[in-house]
Amino acid sequence: MDVTHILEGMNDRQREAVSSPLGNSLVLAGAGSGKTRVLVHRISWLVEVEDVSPHGVLAVTFTNKAASEMRHRVEQLLGISVRPLWIGTFHGLAHRLLRIHWREAKIPQSFQVLDSDDQLRLVKRVMKMLDLDEQKWPSRQAVWFINTAKDEGRRPRHIDTGGDLFNITHLRVYEAYEEACQRGGLLDFSELILRSHELWLENDDLLRHYQNRFSQILVDEFQDTNAIQYAWLKVLGSRAGLMAVGDDDQSIYGWRGARVEHIQRFSKEFQGVTIYRLEQNYRSTGNILKAANALIDKNQDRLGKRLWTAGEDGDAILLYAAYNELDEARFIAERTREWIDGGASPGDVALLYRSNAQSRVLEEALLRLSIPYRIYGGLRFFERAEIRNALAYMRLVANADSDAAVERVINTPPRGIGDKTVERLRQHAREQDTTLWRAANDLVADRGPADRGPADRGPADRALAGRAANAVKGFIELIDSLTEQCEGKNLEEIVRLAIDNSGLMEFHGSEKGERGLARKENLEELVAACGEFGGAFVLPIDPQGLPSQGTEDLLSEFLDHAALETGEHQADSNASSVQLMTLHSAKGLEFPLVFMAGVEEGLFPHRMSLEEPGRLEEERRLCYVGITRAMKQLYFTYAETRRLHGSESYNKPSRFIADIPADLMQEVRIRNEVTRPLSPAWEDDEGSLRLGQRVAHPRFGEGVVLNCEGHGERTRVEVNFEQVGPKILMLSHANLELLNDS
Ligand code: ATP
Ligand code: MG
Repeated sequence: MDVTHILEGMNDRQREAVSSPLGNSLVLAGAGSGKTRVLVHRISWLVEVEDVSPHGVLAVTFTNKAASEMRHRVEQLLGISVRPLWIGTFHGLAHRLLRIHWREAKIPQSFQVLDSDDQLRLVKRVMKMLDLDEQKWPSRQAVWFINTAKDEGRRPRHIDTGGDLFNITHLRVYEAYEEACQRGGLLDFSELILRSHELWLENDDLLRHYQNRFSQILVDEFQDTNAIQYAWLKVLGSRAGLMAVGDDDQSIYGWRGARVEHIQRFSKEFQGVTIYRLEQNYRSTGNILKAANALIDKNQDRLGKRLWTAGEDGDAILLYAAYNELDEARFIAERTREWIDGGASPGDVALLYRSNAQSRVLEEALLRLSIPYRIYGGLRFFERAEIRNALAYMRLVANADSDAAVERVINTPPRGIGDKTVERLRQHAREQDTTLWRAANDLVADRGPADRGPADRGPADRALAGRAANAVKGFIELIDSLTEQCEGKNLEEIVRLAIDNSGLMEFHGSEKGERGLARKENLEELVAACGEFGGAFVLPIDPQGLPSQGTEDLLSEFLDHAALETGEHQADSNASSVQLMTLHSAKGLEFPLVFMAGVEEGLFPHRMSLEEPGRLEEERRLCYVGITRAMKQLYFTYAETRRLHGSESYNKPSRFIADIPADLMQEVRIRNEVTRPLSPAWEDDEGSLRLGQRVAHPRFGEGVVLNCEGHGERTRVEVNFEQVGPKILMLSHANLELLNDS
C-alpha cells in the first residue's frame, strides 16, 4: 500500500510516532513541534495502514474549532468522509453518548444542557428555596463548589463535610440542585462528563461495547485534562491503544482543575507506554524560539525539553512602551495596518491579551483604521450580556419607551417579574398600540383598555395580580428614580448610577471565580469607556463659554456608538480578519504576526498570582504559550499608565520581559504624535497652566509643558522632562507643581 502521503514531509521522530505500534504512547514535546500534526496523521495511519475501522477511532481535542479543523485535515489525508469518526471535545463526546444512552443514564430523552448562566439561575432558585441568605451565601460560590466537586467526580454522597458549616451548607445546595436537575432533565457542562463516566461504571455491557468499539483513542493537549476527564479516559481506554499528546510547559488550566501530573500518571498507570519526544520546531523563527526557551527556563518544575529550529533567526522581537492603553492600541492598529498594506492577510495577525476587558480599546483602534477583526472564543465587548444589560438601563434613562431595553432588563437582575407578566404587558401594548413602558404604567395603575370603565371588567380582566403588579411597580420606580438622578450628570456618572442602582454590578459581580471577576471588570471597563467618550467627543468650549454639547445628546450618541459597534462592523467569520483573543484561548493556534498586549506587572502576571509561586509559574507558561504562537514577528507592548476596570494605574513592564535576553529584543521608539490641535480655551480651562510652563512631577522631576489634549478630567498634558524626556500624563492625576519661569 502506498502510504507515502501520510509520512511525507515528516521528520524521523514524527514518523516514528505516527507509525508506532498499536499500544499506548505519549508524545511529549514543546510548542510548534508538530504534536497536533502527528495526531492527525496518526489517525490516517490507523485507518489506512493498520486497518482500524473509522468507527473504532475516538479523538479528543480542546475546542470545537480544533475538532473541526482536525476532521477537515483527516478528511483531506484520507480522501473519505470522516463522519463516523468520533472527534470532539470531552463535553461534545460525552453529550453524544448521553443522547444515545439517555435511558441507561437515567435521564429523559429530551434532556437539556444548561449553560453557565442557566446553571447560575437554577442554583439561585434552589438557594432561595432553602432560605439561604444571598448576602452570606453567594450563589456563585455555590456554583463553584458544585462544579469543583463534579470535576473531581464527587457526588454529594462522596463529600465529607468535616463538620464545617461552609461545606455543610454547600452540600445541602448541591443535593437540592441535583434534585432539581434530575426533575427537570437538566445537565450542566460538568455533569455531561461525570454522568457518562458513571454510565460506563454502572453498565458493564455498555462499557464493554465501547471499550471494544474504540480500539484507538487519541488525546491532544493532554496536559490540561482534569480529574474526571482523566478517569473517563482511563475507563474507556483500558483495552484500547491510547496516544496522549501534550506539553507540560503549556499547562494553563490549573485554576480550573486541570492536573499536569496526569502526564506522569499516564505513563505509570497505562501499560507499556512508549514515549516520543519531538524537538524540532517548525513554527517560529530562531529568535522567537530562543525567547520562548529562555522564558520557560525560569520555571522550576519542568519535565525538561529541548526545542530547536532549522529556520532563520528572523527579526528581533519588538518591544513598545506605550504611555497609556490608548497609545498602545493605536500603535498596534497602525502596525497591523502597515502589515496588511504590505500585502498580508488580516487573518495572519493575532492580538493576544491576558484579560478580556483589554479588548475594547483594541477593538476601537482597529475600527478607526477600518481593520476587520473578530473576537475569538468570546463575544465582542459591546455584545457581552453584562454590557448589554447596562446599556439597556442607560437606554431607558434616555428613552423609557424602548421596548427592546424593557424586554432585556425588566427582570434582570431578577425581581420577580415572570414570563406570564411580561406577556401580559406585551398583549396590552399590542392592544393599545403603545410601548411596553406605557403598558406597564397603565397596568400598574390598574387601567384596562381605554374604552371600558373599571365597572365593565370582571376579575379575569384585572390587569395584573397583586404580586406581579408590585414587582412591575418596583421596576417603574427604579427607572423613574434613576432617570431623575441622572439629570445633569455626565456620561460616566450616568453609567455608574445605572449599574449600581439597578443591582447589575452586584448581580454580575457576585459570580464566583474568573467569570464573575471578568463580568465585573467589563462593567468597570464600560464606565471607563463612557469617561473617555465624554473626553474625546466633547467639543472645545466655545468662546461664549457654553458647552457645545449637552449630556443628553452625549448619552444618545454613546448608545448609538455602542449599537453600531455590535452589528455593523462584525467581520464575517469566514472572511479574513484580525483575531483578538485571550492568551488562554490561543492554545494550539499559530499566526505569522502576534502582538502580546498589556505585558505589565499586575496585569500579566496577573496580580492574583503574584503571591503564589505555583500560580506565577502558570502565568509564565501562559506567556510561553503566547510567544510560541508567533511564526515570523512578535511584538510585546505595555503601557506606563493604564485605565482598566475604571481605575488608573502606573505599571512596570512585566518580569517576563526581563526573562528574555536583551539581545533578542529591540525597542520601538516613536515620537508621540499630537492627535488634536490645541484647544484655544485650554489655558482658561485649566487655570494658570500654559504652554512652556515649567512644572515639577513627584517622580519624573522638572520639565516644560509641550502640549495638551482633552478636557476636564480627561485632560492630558505632554511634558518634556529634563531627566526622562517627553511624557504624556493625565492632568488630574499627575500632581504637577507649577514652577516660576525665572
Ligand atoms: P502546539 O504545542 O502549539 O499545539 P504542536 O506541537 O501541536 O504545537 P503543530 O501545530 O502540529 O505543533 O505544528 C506546528 C507547525 O509546524 C504547523 O504549521 C505544522 O504544519 C508545521 N510542521 C509540523 N511538522 C512539520 C514538518 N515535519 N515539516 C514542516 N512543517 C511541519
Ligand atoms: Mg497542537
